[in-house]
Amino acid sequence: ALVAAARETELAQAGVTGRAEPWPNDPYPAGSGVASRYASLRALLAGEMSAESVVATLEASGLRGMGGAGFPTGRKWGLVAATDPGGVKYAICNADESEPGTFKDRQILTDQPHLVIEGLVLGMAVTGAEQGWIFIRHEYGPEERVLRAELAALREAGVIGPDACGSGRRLEADIFVSPGGYILGEETALLECMEGHRGEPRNKPPFPGNYGLHGRPTLINSVETFADVPVILQRGAEWWAEQGEGESVGWKFFAVSGHVENPGVYCVPMGTTVRALIDLAGGVLGGARVGAVQPGGASSNFIGPDRLDLALDFGTLAEAGTMLGSGALVVLAEGTDLLAASTNVLRFFRNESCGKCVPCRVGSTKAHELLRETLDSGSGALDDARRGRILQLEETMRKTSICGLGQVALGPVVSVLGLDKGGAAARPQPRPGGSKEQPDR
Ligand code: NAD
Ligand code: SF4
Repeated sequence: ALVAAARETELAQAGVTGRAEPWPNDPYPAGSGVASRYASLRALLAGEMSAESVVATLEASGLRGMGGAGFPTGRKWGLVAATDPGGVKYAICNADESEPGTFKDRQILTDQPHLVIEGLVLGMAVTGAEQGWIFIRHEYGPEERVLRAELAALREAGVIGPDACGSGRRLEADIFVSPGGYILGEETALLECMEGHRGEPRNKPPFPGNYGLHGRPTLINSVETFADVPVILQRGAEWWAEQGEGESVGWKFFAVSGHVENPGVYCVPMGTTVRALIDLAGGVLGGARVGAVQPGGASSNFIGPDRLDLALDFGTLAEAGTMLGSGALVVLAEGTDLLAASTNVLRFFRNESCGKCVPCRVGSTKAHELLRETLDSGSGALDDARRGRILQLEETMRKTSICGLGQVALGPVVSVLGLDKGGAAARPQPRPGGSKEQPDR
């Protein structure tokens, strides 16, 4: 009762009033407690399903990593399970959500801590890890407190601990608060940080599934990915696949922001069109027309208003020259200065570059200077010389940077020039008197 009361207080502090209906990926009735949740975990630990069958179900479901890159979840779990059987392993939930425009994991952590933790502990049990961690962004204090309350309730009920669910297996989970910094959400920088080193990405391969925390095989998935596992195990791979539109599978959380009437978190069938999601968010502010959209957070290329019927799905968006990324749809109304907007994005990456590799550190700074000069000149569009140098820098950074930050930093800028491979052009619109970025915070 004390734990439940504490949880209520935490939710109130977080400004969460609770949802009358659970989100569609939640198999448990709203308001149910520990005793009536964690059914998938209890079934696995009771031997009612095997680790192999869990991996097979996840593979059949088509669930892919929702942190951004979309790696097949069942394959990842199977790889970690098969690496060094019986040896020490770890599982980590990456809750260091920091991509500009991305706030869906925050909602999931608040509303579904039980699903995130159940998915994590299932991942531990299936792959052979005894210790799990939730690596959480340092600004997510209310969400951290919600998670701590849930973990305490689980320990009290014996669901996790030295004898998890009476299975004789030790399954322990805890929280690691990120010291702060966008790059720490990159999985290998996260590992370096947890080991007490400077948080810089490692070269991959080896991938964490083979060489992770303290050099041991480590399962790393994002918040949303873990939260989808319990319902898939309970309702089956076929049910999950049927939830998507057309060829797409499952449900997808999106953070919708920018020039929309009702910014917020929406959960829709994977494969929903960009247009339908914007409509769900109340349409463009003031009834204006769409100028451009970033469908997958700051790392994703802009698409123009002629691409609103694209399905929000990994494959479709990749083919269109952009990506589903972190599930953050940023809408810009017609008339927005796209060159200034994309320069803003680049400035974020320049500021957050860890500096480990030269192309990213120097290239992002140089490219920002070129763009800044253009915006300050008031011309509204890059001259040929600067455009050529931006394209060279983009190619160099994409091909030679160690991690995703440097590889994608200039993609959004190039996409608004209409010169990216996908041709998903949303063209810069010159404004009299020049354009201004947002001021540095
Ligand atoms: P990645 O393609 O290198 O890896 C994706 C995942 O699959 C990783 O867990 C990796 O270990 C695993 N993997 C890939 N190939 C593997 C193999 N052969 N064997 C075993 N495991 C393998 O991508 P990434 O750099 O980890 O992530 C990039 C994405 O992160 C971008 O698409 C971006 O959208 C997203 N992102 C999200 C946020 C956020 O706040 N949610 C922030 C920044 C970036
Ligand atoms: Fe650091 Fe940038 Fe290199 Fe990534 S690409 S390791 S952020 S310098």
